[in-house]
Amino acid sequence: MMGRASRAPIQSVGGDLSRKTSLVGRGLKNRLSHAGLRTRVLRWLAVFWRMLGFITFAGVAAWLLAIGPDDTSTNAVFVGATVLTILLAARIHRRMMGKEREEGPRAVALEQDLDLSLLSVIAVYSLVVFTGGVDSFARPAVYVVVALMVVFHRPAVAITTVAVALGLELAVAYRMGYLSTHTASVAAHGCFIAAFATLYHLTLSGAVAFLRRQARSVTDSRMEDLRQRAREYRLIVSSEDSSLDVQGGAGGREKWIAAAVEEVEGALRSGLGVVECALKTHTVALYLLSPDEKSLRLRECISDSEQVSRKPIAAGEGLPGVVLRRRGPVRLCGDFRGAIYYSGKTAPKAFVGVPLIARRPGVSDEGHLRGVLVADRLEPTPFDEADERLLSTVAAELLRSMEVERVMGYIREEKDEKVRFYRAIETLNLLSKPDEVALATVRLVAEIAPVDFVAVTLVENGEEGSGPVMHRIAEVMGSGADRLRGEAFEDNAGLVSNVVRLGSTLPGRDYCEMERKVIFSDSLKVRGLSTLKVLPLSVSETVVGTLVCGATKKHALVGDSVRQLSVLAMQAAGAIARARLFEQTEKMATTDGLTGLNNHRRFQECLASAMASSRRYERPVSLILTDVDHFKGVNDTYGHPIGDLVLKGVARILSSEARNTDVVARYGGEEFAVVLPETDLEGAKTIAERIRARIEAEVFHTEVGPLAVTLSLGIAGCPKHGDHKQTLIEKADQALYQAKESGRNRVVVCR
Ligand code: GH3
Ligand code: MG
Ligand code: MG
Repeated sequence: MMGRASRAPIQSVGGDLSRKTSLVGRGLKNRLSHAGLRTRVLRWLAVFWRMLGFITFAGVAAWLLAIGPDDTSTNAVFVGATVLTILLAARIHRRMMGKEREEGPRAVALEQDLDLSLLSVIAVYSLVVFTGGVDSFARPAVYVVVALMVVFHRPAVAITTVAVALGLELAVAYRMGYLSTHTASVAAHGCFIAAFATLYHLTLSGAVAFLRRQARSVTDSRMEDLRQRAREYRLIVSSEDSSLDVQGGAGGREKWIAAAVEEVEGALRSGLGVVECALKTHTVALYLLSPDEKSLRLRECISDSEQVSRKPIAAGEGLPGVVLRRRGPVRLCGDFRGAIYYSGKTAPKAFVGVPLIARRPGVSDEGHLRGVLVADRLEPTPFDEADERLLSTVAAELLRSMEVERVMGYIREEKDEKVRFYRAIETLNLLSKPDEVALATVRLVAEIAPVDFVAVTLVENGEEGSGPVMHRIAEVMGSGADRLRGEAFEDNAGLVSNVVRLGSTLPGRDYCEMERKVIFSDSLKVRGLSTLKVLPLSVSETVVGTLVCGATKKHALVGDSVRQLSVLAMQAAGAIARARLFEQTEKMATTDGLTGLNNHRRFQECLASAMASSRRYERPVSLILTDVDHFKGVNDTYGHPIGDLVLKGVARILSSEARNTDVVARYGGEEFAVVLPETDLEGAKTIAERIRARIEAEVFHTEVGPLAVTLSLGIAGCPKHGDHKQTLIEKADQALYQAKESGRNRVVVCR
C-alpha cells in the first residue's frame, strides 16, 4: 500500500519538473548569451582600465613623435592632459581605498604598480609640456613624482619609472627642439632625476634599516626583560635562555613564558593590593632575589610616594637585608633607618617585612630564600602581629602563584616532550639493525636539537666480545660526513673512547676549545665546532656506543637540549641493544657455534635458493662436499679439543679460499660443504683443488706441536647431476666417497 501510494506523486512531479526545466532552460540560454556579451565587454574594459598606464604611455610616445614643437599649445593637449589627470586621480583614489591590491597575486600587483607609476610620470610630463616645456615652472614636480614612485614601489617598478622619466625627458626635449640648443641643460636635468631618485631611495632604505634595527632592539630588550622576570619568578632557569632562541617551537615557548609572567604579575598586583587595603600602608613592595642571590630587585610596588627606587639593592643592605638575614619577619616603629628602597628623603615611621621562603612539599629543610615583602607607614602607627601574619600569608600566596605557573609550564613541557619522544621511540623500536637505529637517531637529533654535527658510534668488541675494543662511526651527519661514515678506530684517549669508558657525558661543561680536542681519533678530525656533547649510549651499565652532537654556535647545547638528547640517547641505546640481540639471535639460528660457518640448516636454505635461481635463469650451480681424512685418528691421538682446533683451522681456510658469492657451511661433524652459484663443474674443480692444496700445505700449531691434515672433496653440479637439492647432495657425496676410496686427499667430480 505504502509503496504504491508514494510512487504515483513522484512520477507526476517528475514529469512537471522536466517540462519546467526545458522552458527555464531556453530562457536561461538567451539570458546567458546577453550576459556573456556583457561579461566579455566588461572584461575588455577591465583590461583596458588595468593597462591604461601602458596604453597612455604608448599614446603619448606616439604623440610626442608625431607632433612638432609648435603643436604643444593646442586644445588637444589640454583636453588630453585633463582626461589623463582625471583618470590618474581615479586610479590613486582606488589605490588609496586599497581595492586593487586585494584583487590579485603579486604579479597583478606589479602590473598595477607599473601602471600607476607610468601614468603619474606621463601626467606630470604633460603638465610640463603644457606649461612651457623645458622652461616650465612645473618641472620640479617631475622630481617629486619620480621620488614618490621610487619610495613607494619595489626596485623593478622604481627603475622602470626612472627610465621612463628619462626617456620622456629626452623625447620632450627633442620634440620641442631643445636637444641641440640646450644639450647640457637637458643632460643635467636627466642626471638630476636619476640622482634625486637614487638619493631618495638610499635615504629611505637607510631610514627603514634604522627603524628595523630599532624595532628589533626594542623586541630584544622586551624579550630580555621578560626572561629576566621569568628567571626571577623561577619559571625558567638561567641556563635555559639560549634554548629559547634556537629550539624548535621556540615561538610557542616564548608565548607560554609571556603568559606565565603575566599571570604571576597579575597575582602579585592583587596580593599587594590586598596588603595596601588591609594594612593602610604608605608603601608595599615586593623584592625578589636575583638568580645569583646578590641583589634584590623591585618587582611590584604600590606606594603613595614617587620616591620608591627602581634600582636593584644589594642583598644584605637596609631593612630588606635584615629580613633576608633573619629569614623571619621584622617589625619596627618610631625613628629608624634602613628604608633604603626610597631614593629621596621619605622616612617611614612604621615598617614590617617578611621573607619569601620557598619550601618544597614534603621536604623539611629551611627552604630557599626568594625575596622580601615589605610594607611601611609614614605615621608612627605600629604594625601589629595580625598585620605581620597577613603579610606572611600574602607572601606565601605570591610564592604559591609563582610555583603554580612553574609547575604548569613544567607539565606543558613534559607533555610536549613526551609526545615528541613517543614518536621517536616508536620509530627507533621498529628497526632491527643497529645501523638503521644509528641513522634514525642521527636524523632525530638533527630534528630536535640545534646541532650542526651528529654522529652515532658503536662499540665493537671484536669476535665474540673477546677482541680489543673498537669503535665504528655507524652514522654521521654534518661536515665531513662522507669521510667519517663507516670508519673504525681503536680505543684511545679521544672523547668517544673516554665516554665509553666512563659511561658519562663529556665534556661536562659547555666548552669552546674544540680544535684541540680529539673526538674520534687523530686521523678522523672534525673541524669548525664550538660546542660539543658526547653522550653515552648505555643500557644498564653497558655502553654500546656514543651519540656525538656538535654545533658551530657557542653554548648551543645547554639545558633543555641536553636533557632531550639524554633521553633520546637512552632510547637509542635500548633500540641498538635490541637490534643487536635480534641480529645475534638470527645469527645463532644460522651459524655453527664451533667454526662460525653457516650451519646445516642455513646450508640447506642456501643450496635450495641457489638451485631455484639456477633453474629459473638456467645458470650452473656446483656443490663441493668435503671430509677430513682420518680425523678419528686426530681425536684419538690428541684429544677432542685439539680436533676442534683443527676443525676451526679447516673452516678458516675454506672461508678464505671460497669466493664472496660462495656459501661455506659446516655440513656436520668434520664434513663441510661449499655452494658455488654461477659456477660450472670445471670452475668448482679449480676451487676444490685450491682448497685441497691449501689444507695439505697448512700446519696447524697446537699445544701438542704442529699438526697436518688432508681433505677429500667430492663435486656435483646442476644441471648435469640433476636439478633437485637432494639429488645434488647425494651425487656430491658419491664423489666424495670415490675420493676416499681412491686414496683420499683428492678431488673427484661426479661422473
Ligand atoms: P675418513 O678419512 O674415512 O673420513 O676417516 P675419519 O676418521 O675422518 O672417519 P669419519 O669421517 O667417519 O670420522 C668422523 C669423526 O670426526 C668422528 C668424530 O670423532 C669426529 N668428529 C665429528 N665431529 C667432531 C667435532 O665437533 N669435534 C671433534 N674434535 N671431532 C669431531
Ligand atoms: Mg666423516
Ligand atoms: Mg673423515
